Amino acid sequence: MNTANAAQHDMRWHNDGHTITMRINRSEIEIVEVSCPGGDECSSRSGCVVKYFVSRYGLECNIGACAPEEVMEICWALVGDDYDIDAAQLWFVPIKDEVFYAWMQSRV
Ligand SMILES: [Zn+2]
Repeated sequence: MNTANAAQHDMRWHNDGHTITMRINRSEIEIVEVSCPGGDECSSRSGCVVKYFVSRYGLECNIGACAPEEVMEICWALVGDDYDIDAAQLWFVPIKDEVFYAWMQSRV
């Protein structure tokens, strides 16, 4: 995972209420559920792109940092074309990552 490289792309970030429900099992963090608020921005031929990538790659898609919590609200961005989802990559950042969130708000 290279955060610097990922951040260099001009990605369009979505802050639309997707959440990830997690369970801490000893020292492992398991993803229990990805909750999609609906809407057009995350929809693809494979359904919700956030669900698609997080169910495949889990926390590897996370390029932010925050204290673990049971329900984590995230921002997400897709690099590539959602028409060819296997060639694309999704990244997410917890909205409680203060550094990232401040940066994102400054771009809006
Ligand atoms: Zn969605």
